Amino acid sequence: MNASTQPPAAKNRFHNQPVAETLRQLDVQLQSGLTTEGARKRLAQHGPNELASQPRTPLWRLFVNQFLDFIVLLLIAAALISFALRDAIEGAAILAIVVINAVIGLVQEQRADAAIEQLKRLAAPTAQVLRDGAHVTVASRDLVPGDIVYLEAGNFVPADGQLVESFNLQIDESSLTGESTPGQKQSEAVSAADAPIGDRTNMAFSGTTVSRGRATAVIVATGALTEMGTIAGLMSGIAHEHTPLQRRLNQLGRTLGIAALILCALVFALEAARNTDLGLITRSGIVAYFASEGARLTNAFMLATSLAVAAVPEGLSAIVTINLALGMREMIKRHALVRRLTAVETLGSATIICSDKTGTLTQNVMTVVRGYCNGEFFRVTGERGEPRGEFINDRSNAAVDPNAPDHAALHALLRGGLLCSDALLEKWEGQYRTVGDPTEGALVVAAAKSGLMREAAEEAYSRMDEISFDSERKMMSTLHRASSEAVLVLVKGAPDVVLGRCMRERGASGADAVLDAAARARILAANNDLAAQGLRVLAVAERTVPALTSKDPDVVESDLTFVGLLGMMDPPRPEVASAIRTAATAGIRTVMITGDYPATAHAIAKQIGLVGDGTDELVVSGAEISAMNDEALSERVKLASVFARVSPEDKLRLVGAFKHNGHVVAMTGDGVNDAPALKRADIGVAMGITGTDVSKEVADMVLTDDNFASIVSAVEQGRVIYANIRKFVLYLLGCNIAEIIVILGASVAGLASPLSAIQLLWLNLITDGAPALALGLERAEPDVMNQPPRPPQEPVIGRHMLGRLATQSLVLAAAVLAVYVLALRFAPDQAHTMAFVTLALAELPLAYASRSERLPVTALGVFSNRALQLAVVVSLMGILAVVYVPALQPIFDTTPLSLPNLAALMPAIFAPALAVETAKRMAGRNPIRA
Ligand code: ATP
Repeated sequence: MNASTQPPAAKNRFHNQPVAETLRQLDVQLQSGLTTEGARKRLAQHGPNELASQPRTPLWRLFVNQFLDFIVLLLIAAALISFALRDAIEGAAILAIVVINAVIGLVQEQRADAAIEQLKRLAAPTAQVLRDGAHVTVASRDLVPGDIVYLEAGNFVPADGQLVESFNLQIDESSLTGESTPGQKQSEAVSAADAPIGDRTNMAFSGTTVSRGRATAVIVATGALTEMGTIAGLMSGIAHEHTPLQRRLNQLGRTLGIAALILCALVFALEAARNTDLGLITRSGIVAYFASEGARLTNAFMLATSLAVAAVPEGLSAIVTINLALGMREMIKRHALVRRLTAVETLGSATIICSDKTGTLTQNVMTVVRGYCNGEFFRVTGERGEPRGEFINDRSNAAVDPNAPDHAALHALLRGGLLCSDALLEKWEGQYRTVGDPTEGALVVAAAKSGLMREAAEEAYSRMDEISFDSERKMMSTLHRASSEAVLVLVKGAPDVVLGRCMRERGASGADAVLDAAARARILAANNDLAAQGLRVLAVAERTVPALTSKDPDVVESDLTFVGLLGMMDPPRPEVASAIRTAATAGIRTVMITGDYPATAHAIAKQIGLVGDGTDELVVSGAEISAMNDEALSERVKLASVFARVSPEDKLRLVGAFKHNGHVVAMTGDGVNDAPALKRADIGVAMGITGTDVSKEVADMVLTDDNFASIVSAVEQGRVIYANIRKFVLYLLGCNIAEIIVILGASVAGLASPLSAIQLLWLNLITDGAPALALGLERAEPDVMNQPPRPPQEPVIGRHMLGRLATQSLVLAAAVLAVYVLALRFAPDQAHTMAFVTLALAELPLAYASRSERLPVTALGVFSNRALQLAVVVSLMGILAVVYVPALQPIFDTTPLSLPNLAALMPAIFAPALAVETAKRMAGRNPIRA
């Protein structure tokens, strides 16, 4: 952004002037905000609200990087030597293959980067702003100076702003000032012009987080001109880190590379020391070179190089990245946005899913259906979301009028629910809908059923202040001007909490009675009764005071009159019960961790099949958790399935207890205080719709539909991706090791190498590269969710994989060598080509056998992987071309094979695949560990 075009905002000196002056300077109306057109112009002038990103590495550099690999350099050396020996064809062919390889590597890297870029955009933060007089959500990068933004607990402050109004606002500025305790904020101007950042209490700074309360602010600086912009390099986003699997594979690659070097040296020494006629190694045209000692050494060098090429699985890491990135794309389709590649892997190991209840296991569509006040229950009728319905007294079974004088308690209950909430009821395209927190939306609809609407109610009782809801306090309060000498305090929240602050109870006629122990017990029993029906229950209480003497929540929310209870239905999501069963078959436990009341949580847990009847001992309350030490908690969590009335702190301890018991924990969270638990979990899962910015930022995965079933589906996808990576690693390594055995075997046996460097390059690049990519696209095996979770420490190449590798590579090498030895005897002219063709073609059926580590290929449907068919056609054409296209024959040292000779190879071509299928059958269908 160009500093000269920035208004005085750039100086960030707004804190010492009244906000009205700032609004005037920035030319914006508080009631309507900027116009869309005006915002667009300002955006063009000021640039996007983002910190300058790292300059991109130019494409040519990335391309050059592809060549900075030891093996590639070795190949280039080999090509140069070929040129020096005037074998330009071979030199050019090697160079061409090296360049093709670099292009493929570059394309793959770009694809992986593009996929990750796309994910970054999807996870980009948004902000709530006022434009053209309407509340809208815009991408944070589109904010401009003058925008009026709304902030609430859990939000990131999207740009620097001056507060217009605020309620109990606390902002955590540790990212900016290092101050670890959140500071109180308010909208009055700060007098000192040179006040340090931490003392500018009427400003909200970009990159800090709202930890409590809410506010409206006018943006004064964006992008690089924010305070945060002056601290360079604080970029957040999706980390492009290597996953444990990639790290292990890289390690494996390095080990193989070193082993290859040693083997190279060995073969080089073996070949160089031998005085045999090496004429067989290349085509007859260069026999002349063998006269010289130098040519003999060169040949040995070529062979050693080709061995290095065979030993190192080029591009393995790139294929793994592509696979993970493609897997992430697949997961987005299933509503799971993975923010870290590592999570894709960890998901496959998850052994327990700890899920919130509200909105994740349930639909978060709330309707008030029952209530209790004045010692009596009532039901509320009407369609979901429609502001029409009746209040039916349980005892008389007759409709009552909440506005009648003898139902003053019911009226106060509905009025309290309406005024002490922020949700709005709107008519949208002929339909009613609520905007805001669904819990509060249900209260607003219930009030509307009695004819109480927000505008009229707020006219009579204008809101003066509020103490916001947070899940630790489990309640919220609003303060209203009732008359010139009376302030009405309204409190709503968890009944068990609110009741503890009540001294009186509202009677039918509106008079209050003292709340004695019996009345308390009666109200708690009523609460339990409603909760046992699976209803989410809120209590409403109030008090009237002449004036407010303190803003301290403990003072404001004390000495209350209990008004009544409202019970909301929030039906379980229909797909949850089967998702829980799927998880159970996959060896994954599901537990519910909720802020809601134990009886409500238990009832919902029964409805979704998490627990059966008579399972009270499986429910643990937050109070019990607090009373236990870590050891006792680790013991208690072994059996429990429902944790209710837990605080974010309890959640953190629960993750610890599960991890202590050896679990790999996936944990959901949405609130500002859930961040530590999400971080501590192996897979932190945030809610895309209802979650706070803070929870999304620390999460490994964000559910775009907030749905529990999406977690299970992501776990399945994680398992599939990991299994597919194993499949192609096994396949590629098997092919490479076979090539080594062939070359080494021939060398030790004193035979000329059956394969040339170019042939090996061709094999690795085309004939086994394409099928390997296709193996990464295998669909889920039918029993993927019948297997237990994979132990997280499982090595890439464990005992099982080692055995399979040995079978595969030994049989493949034996087949090639057998063909070679026999052909040397019966058709010496075609021996090289026959060995090459056997190896190349045998890799194709082997790719089919590699489609599952356990199941026979027939169980998957032989041709069900379409990508593999395509890859096989590509490979087949690649092989046939180098054998039958006359122009390619001299380059690849091939001679066209006759049909009978080709047919004679068939047993050798199918032997490796058959061996793998037999090995699978012999291993049985038991679950396999590495
Ligand atoms: P979950 O943890 O499964 O999402 P939850 O929504 O009940 O469940 P919290 O948001 O922590 O968890 O809420 C805790 C309790 O606070 C609720 O059970 C309810 O009694 C009360 N509560 C929830 N929302 C409000 C609100 N807007 N105003 C007042 N009290 C509320």
